[in-house]
Amino acid sequence: MSLSNDPEQDTVGGRVEGLYDETYENYKLYVNPTLARVMKVSGSPVEVRAQGCTIWDQNGKAYLDFAGGYGVFTLGHRHPKVVAAVKAQLDLMALSGKTMFNIMLGRASKRLAELAPGDLQISFFCNSGTEAVEGAIKLARAATKRRSIVATQDAFHGKTLGSLSASGREYFKDTYAPLLEDVAHLEYGSTTGLEEALRDAAAFIVEPVQGEGGVNVPAAGYLRQVREICDRTGALLIADEVQTGLGRCGTMFACDRDGVVPDIMTLAKGLSGGVIPVGAYIARTPVWNAGYAKHPVMHTSTFGGSEIACAAALAAMDALVEEDLVENARVRGAQLLAGAQELARKYSSVAREARGLGLLVGVELTNEGYGGWIIPEMMKHGVTAAWTLNMQRVIRLEPPLVVTESEIDKALAALEAGLSTAREKLGAL
Ligand code: PLP
Repeated sequence: MSLSNDPEQDTVGGRVEGLYDETYENYKLYVNPTLARVMKVSGSPVEVRAQGCTIWDQNGKAYLDFAGGYGVFTLGHRHPKVVAAVKAQLDLMALSGKTMFNIMLGRASKRLAELAPGDLQISFFCNSGTEAVEGAIKLARAATKRRSIVATQDAFHGKTLGSLSASGREYFKDTYAPLLEDVAHLEYGSTTGLEEALRDAAAFIVEPVQGEGGVNVPAAGYLRQVREICDRTGALLIADEVQTGLGRCGTMFACDRDGVVPDIMTLAKGLSGGVIPVGAYIARTPVWNAGYAKHPVMHTSTFGGSEIACAAALAAMDALVEEDLVENARVRGAQLLAGAQELARKYSSVAREARGLGLLVGVELTNEGYGGWIIPEMMKHGVTAAWTLNMQRVIRLEPPLVVTESEIDKALAALEAGLSTAREKLGAL
């Protein structure tokens, strides 16, 4: 079955027959049988194409993407500048041969250092968030010659063994125990016990705003206090900005809110430009040198830093600045949060509160089961939304930073439809 590149064509042409059945069968037999059934029951369609804030399904129906790939699509889908940069790079060279200098890796690393807080300077490029976290943990251990890592409760840092050890939810961890030794978890947003815990630690890893933990925004000043404690104890501060990085929270990096410069910062989702997977960590030069000056190939990745990935990242960083999308995230984020808070008050039997920073907004429900009513109802109204991985009673809205005022209004109307359906169903129980 062939699909055109033109959304209009399928909308005009109507259903792409058989695509749903084919994809569902493939999922059931070859991808993930259990997940396939769950997605079918919750009415998930098949994604066929996307542009900007919109995804079209197999029937040509349009959805505003407020799940946003869990934060990937800061620039929206297929941003023209990123697509053009990737296409141009494909005509030259796609992946690195690894034995020569790579122009795009140099340029992307330089651009990231220009945007990053303070003296963060040396980058390692990889392909995903969890790899960035693995690299950061290894660098912290290598640089400090210390072992232990301190993380926060409900944190999410990825699902490979090292980053999983730093994550907070036991459900994802129990099956694989024992994980990394010497990982402690302290309450997020509090510095109680932190100084003692960090005395012999290699690093404190923390999300400036917890995404998967239920969109938890710490009080302003939290990271500043953390920075001071790290300085006193010699532990490195790793800011995990995989989800919050590059404009999502209304500042270029969420740690900019506190004016804090971490020792290592991890990035992925928003760095990719929504076109090619990219992850990275960026470190202060003395930290990198302490770990790797004598061991330059201690931590590597075959695919990491490829020409096409770096071309995408470079174009994405440029577009973000040129189009002032960080400011748009701040303004539209305030609109989205205010609207969601109003709805939470109106539907207080199903929603406890709405909270967030910039375009990372969570709606905490009064019961974790209600998301199963709300998200499908929002889909019926042409808007996607997502669960949070570590706090099932919080659903999140994380649209592209190019989102417009009227698109936010439409998403809020869909959220209201979802909350209203949940309230009716609750009333009928
Ligand atoms: N760190 C944070 C803060 C995240 O939110 C995520 C993913 O949601 C990760 C790390 C892991 O990223 P990935 O799924 O690309 O491995």
